[in-house]
Amino acid sequence: TVVTRFAPSPTGYLHVGGARTALYSWLYAKNTGGEFVLRIEDTDIERSTEDAKQAILDGMQWLGLTWDHGPIYQTRRFDRYKEIIEQLLQEGKAYKCFMSASELDEIREQQKLRGEKPRYPGTWRDRTDHPENEPYVIRFKNPLEGKVVINDHIRGKIEIDNRELDDLIIQRSDGTPTYNFCVVVDDWDMGITHVVRGEDHINNTPRQINILQALGAPIPEYAHVSMILGDDGKKLSKRHGAVGVMQYRDDGFLPQALLNYLVRLGWSHGDQEIFSLNEMIEHFSLDAIGQSASAFNTEKLIWLNQHYIKTLPASEVASHAKWHFDEEGIDLAAGPELEKVIAIQADRVKTLKELAQISTYFYTDFENFEANAAKKHLRPVAKAALENVRDKLLALDSWTPESIQQAIHATAEELEVGMGKVGMPLRVAATGGGNSPSLDVTLNLLSKDKVAERINKALT
Ligand code: GLU
Repeated sequence: TVVTRFAPSPTGYLHVGGARTALYSWLYAKNTGGEFVLRIEDTDIERSTEDAKQAILDGMQWLGLTWDHGPIYQTRRFDRYKEIIEQLLQEGKAYKCFMSASELDEIREQQKLRGEKPRYPGTWRDRTDHPENEPYVIRFKNPLEGKVVINDHIRGKIEIDNRELDDLIIQRSDGTPTYNFCVVVDDWDMGITHVVRGEDHINNTPRQINILQALGAPIPEYAHVSMILGDDGKKLSKRHGAVGVMQYRDDGFLPQALLNYLVRLGWSHGDQEIFSLNEMIEHFSLDAIGQSASAFNTEKLIWLNQHYIKTLPASEVASHAKWHFDEEGIDLAAGPELEKVIAIQADRVKTLKELAQISTYFYTDFENFEANAAKKHLRPVAKAALENVRDKLLALDSWTPESIQQAIHATAEELEVGMGKVGMPLRVAATGGGNSPSLDVTLNLLSKDKVAERINKALT
């Protein structure tokens, strides 16, 4: 069976590039009925933080990218890496190198002067005159001849001559295993069949393949995903604004929208734009991922967010929106059912944050009426209309959109004014401002007493 993995280094939050790689990896596992592993590559102890680990788990969970195995932390596997390094030494596939850093620097300088690519020349590869009590690193004996061929699912055939690769350090002088080596042991132990990762790792791939081969491990298939660019054509980074996944949650995006956005950023299925999760899983293939870098387009993400706010069942939108009402300090118990508010507000907002902000008046009494709206529609012009409609509303037996609409209508007729001359003052009185869904449904979600109370406030 297919086993894929996502292997972030916890040195920062889960950014959209990482999330897209994770999504592709996850989708491929789902598409093939395989398994998905989450591995935390925390061997860089200086740069790895607990916060970053948590942010990765939070981001994955929020997106719904559940893992079948893990999270597996590399720092808990040092014994295993040591064991394999020992084995490679025994088999003569790795060796101790006693060259000092300054010696190596000097060699590199000379190579540069000769116009050669700086590389370790294999000095200690076959030497047995090992000094005692001297620091050493352990290097992998890279094959001297032949080439590594990668049939990358995205980039096609890539060939690297082994003469271009030098003997990689697999254990530092302090005894810790190096990054490229840990990846190899992990991919092998976890039975990874498909490595989906950023193209910034493409130079590591031939080295990793050589080590896998030396271990007699199967070679996974590879898919190296292109970068995401900002709107200025440069690699997407913090400079371009929010790139952390949880920042999108905070800004009011639905995970469905971000997933849909990310899947289309570099992958296509005909010209379909909107994909449910099941559709993504059904149609996904590594070979349909594009080779060129993709530019991040916030407008399009917003468009998708609006689409999902409008079209997902209100209960599902509500489950994500609750958090934002909480953030705005709104007590949902103090007003109508959130789903009902969503039903009438969904097509008026771009984000869930906005949804919470423009729905405050359903749950909280406002201090002041919005100044411009009040000046235009309230005192003194609207006194008669507000008093009249208040009394008609109070007299209603049933509190439905229809009865409310009739009351407004009756006031307009009685006072011989247009509907707007009643509706706008009433809207400002009841909601505090000049923008709301149509009054019948808006007032219906507010109680009759609440509406009367706010009209009285507007009249004083
Ligand atoms: N830990 C690496 C990163 O975060 C990924 C390595 C891999 O996928 O092989 O860039």
